[in-house]
Amino acid sequence: MSDRFFSSQPITGDHATLDGSEAHHLLHVMRAKVGERVTLFDGSGAEFDAEVEKCGRSEVALAVLARREVDRELPFELVVGVSLPKGDRQKWLVEKLTELGVTELVPLETERGVAQPTASALERLGRGVIEAAKQCGRNRLMRVAKPQAFGEWVLAEGVGEGLLRLVAHPAGESIGEFDLSGSTRVHLSIGPEGGFTDAEVAAADDAGWRSVALGPRILRVETAAVALSAVVAQRARS
Ligand code: SAH
Repeated sequence: MSDRFFSSQPITGDHATLDGSEAHHLLHVMRAKVGERVTLFDGSGAEFDAEVEKCGRSEVALAVLARREVDRELPFELVVGVSLPKGDRQKWLVEKLTELGVTELVPLETERGVAQPTASALERLGRGVIEAAKQCGRNRLMRVAKPQAFGEWVLAEGVGEGLLRLVAHPAGESIGEFDLSGSTRVHLSIGPEGGFTDAEVAAADDAGWRSVALGPRILRVETAAVALSAVVAQRARS
């Protein structure tokens, strides 16, 4: 699955063009030659067999040979709100959540949050999503939402059929106690390194979120996000 390339343009006909970093990867890292076969995906859920037709300096033209719907998504919606950690730990988080099949990452603005997601930071995260999707075989990209204030996020969407909302909190009920089956939409909240404030925990509680604990050790933000997403991804089924 390593020879996968992402087309930012939807692939509709029998030709596709790669440019930017994808063309760079194909031309200068993989040293593609005319006639070589690769797999393309465009985030629509399909993947495409394609053959290199022409190598430009910064563009690659490909003939699209076949289109296949290949679904490697979770069978339910998983949205993860995280008060992002800094730097490389943010990059790691995005990579792992993409691999686990998370539908959408929502950067949360919390009282004790450390990283203010700027436009360039969000763009970097988007790039990380594409890299991870290339590697893990996802044909849909994990969405990265605009940053949202925690107070608004916990109120959004309300209660709905099949919606389970869990806030990771060391003082919550053990995740092992939860019956996660029957949930068709799961929303998770992970706090910053300094933790949620009492007021934030109370706001989530008032809005009907349930607090879950992941064991007696305090986990880093990104570990908690990945651990909780993995448990939910394995156990919740529609
Ligand atoms: N001192 C903080 C720890 C913050 S750790 C506190 O006591 O709350 C960063 C975030 O990771 C937390 O806000 C929580 O969402 C999550 N987290 C870390 N360890 C956890 C655990 N054992 N159980 C549940 N959530 C945890």
